[in-house]
Amino acid sequence: MSYLVFARKYRPESFDEIIGQEHITITLSNAIKLKRIAHAYLFTGPRGTGKTSTARIFSKSLNCEKGPTPEPCQKCFNCMEIKKGISPDVIEIDGASNRGIDQIRELKENVMFSPIKSRYKIFIIDEVHMLTREAFNALLKILEEPPSHVIFIFATTEPHKVPETIISRCQRFDFRRLTVSEISNQLKSIADNENLKITEEAIDKIANLSEGCLRDAEGFLDKASSFAKNNITGKIIDRLSGIPDFAVYDSLIKAIYTSSQSEITNTVHGIYNRGYNLNIFLQQLIKYFRVIMLLKSGMKVDEFSAAILNSLNQYTDYSEVTLIAIINTLFKVLESLKYSYIPHIYIEMKLIYISKLDKFIDIDTYLLDNNNSGLKPNPPKNSTDRTAPDKNKSTANIPPNYAKNWDGFLSYLDNNYPKLHPFLIGSKLVELSDKEIKIQILNGIHKDLLLKNFYNEFEREISTFFKKNLKISIDLIQKDNNKLTEEVDKNLEKLKNRFDAEIEDIRSNDV
Ligand SMILES: [Zn+2]
Repeated sequence: MSYLVFARKYRPESFDEIIGQEHITITLSNAIKLKRIAHAYLFTGPRGTGKTSTARIFSKSLNCEKGPTPEPCQKCFNCMEIKKGISPDVIEIDGASNRGIDQIRELKENVMFSPIKSRYKIFIIDEVHMLTREAFNALLKILEEPPSHVIFIFATTEPHKVPETIISRCQRFDFRRLTVSEISNQLKSIADNENLKITEEAIDKIANLSEGCLRDAEGFLDKASSFAKNNITGKIIDRLSGIPDFAVYDSLIKAIYTSSQSEITNTVHGIYNRGYNLNIFLQQLIKYFRVIMLLKSGMKVDEFSAAILNSLNQYTDYSEVTLIAIINTLFKVLESLKYSYIPHIYIEMKLIYISKLDKFIDIDTYLLDNNNSGLKPNPPKNSTDRTAPDKNKSTANIPPNYAKNWDGFLSYLDNNYPKLHPFLIGSKLVELSDKEIKIQILNGIHKDLLLKNFYNEFEREISTFFKKNLKISIDLIQKDNNKLTEEVDKNLEKLKNRFDAEIEDIRSNDV
């Protein structure tokens, strides 16, 4: 027998095998018993939570030769054909690749014919939100006067994209994400069945990674088992997932929380040097900050294990506004990562930036701007005292009225010209006259880039902001008492040497 991937091999065949969606399977079973069958159903919910499987089981229940019954026999001709996906009366359509009006017209003609050998003709349209407007209109015509033998089951991960006119004609069922323990249990039972040797830690990690999507979890177990059949450990899962262990995030979040720059630098460089994908790394960091926010608002979080949640719970005294600012900033970093020359340095600088944010900003003190974090790093001590905000000062006056100083300029840049901003994190204003501006920045490569590649844009932005034509002079911040700078520069030096070597390589090949 040919090899079946776990997700297919362990696909549920009856309602009681569907995990975590009892609110749906019980309702559907009762409807079958009471013979109250609707003409259209809408199954919504995250991917991999059982929508299509439930649609197939429901089809079997309706068309089983011994039915309609909530417990289809699984043996009759109809059950077997539906199981194999070859029943002429249960038609599965992928909305993503059949989204046009022509396909729906074809379907309309098809709808008119009676079922060939079953009670009902059932159309399962997956990813129904992908249909075009014209296709939806044609579909609506069918739904307005459906032939008595026809049943539609629409499945979608994005119900908000389905027109209200369609939704209102369907019985709607919302599938939920599975909890970590539901996924762990299913993984354990598959592992037992397959005689896989897998540690509790590895199961836990897979369940945490899959974020409530059983299909992903099963797929991951599959991958892990072909990689290391008899000894699937947590380390192997880390290696396959491309996501560092939670312990790495734990210490990074702690470093951000305590503003420990050297720890942030070490972690980011460690991740980079070990070859982790920085995109995936950041996405996971965003997820953890999101969980901190959910925990803070008292919401129940099922997607991660108790140990991880306990750990993240330590950071819930961040204010909600600060957490939103952090998450927004991280999203921005993720977006601009592809434009970054030296992505790990960019990430490092931005993480240092968020570590400097006031942890307890309240909404009355700062206004939130939709497009950006809208928040500035800790203001100088004498300008704002967060325990006693100036009640007379209108909050509406803060952004976008930037203070006409260097911090104000940096905030302006961050919001309006994010490409330049990372070069200037940690920079200082030395002198500002009518003709000249003198600044100091953290590292040499940034200085070179600003002067050689971005000078015109930089000059333009500075002149616009300060409303005068300014010549720019850039120096490096004295290194003696700045360990971080040394650390960064050492790494930059290494990078620079590598670039130089690469350029040399390219040149010599060209000759
Ligand atoms: Zn049957």
